[in-house]
Amino acid sequence: MRKPTKQDFSAFICGPYCVFFKEGQKEDMACGAAPAAMELIRRGLVSIEDLPNPPDDQYLRRDNPHLREIICRTCPFVLDGCDFRLPEAPDDAVPCGGFVLLRLLLDTGVIEPGTLRAIVHG
Ligand code: SF4
Repeated sequence: MRKPTKQDFSAFICGPYCVFFKEGQKEDMACGAAPAAMELIRRGLVSIEDLPNPPDDQYLRRDNPHLREIICRTCPFVLDGCDFRLPEAPDDAVPCGGFVLLRLLLDTGVIEPGTLRAIVHG
């Protein structure tokens, strides 16, 4: 399994999973979820080669209470705000690509909430 590079960040997380991503966007605009996903890859808990296919539109909008608690509550992404930082996200809210990828990994049992919590909060 190869280690992720900085280019992987946008190539494997933001590009495929994030509806807000624009080519050439600066890395410091990254959400709180993408660095956690990169850390999972860096530690060898998830492999780039086995990342799931991007989901359809219906799945895209689904919430996940674990991710809201572990990631969103302290997410530094404030540009234009994000509905997932609100106590109740509106039904039509769309999360960032890192959130979508982490939710796929949780839903398919590749990672457990406890693993993610340990990575994010130590
Ligand atoms: S869904 Fe919103 S609040 Fe949650 S990690 Fe992504 S940008 Fe941050």
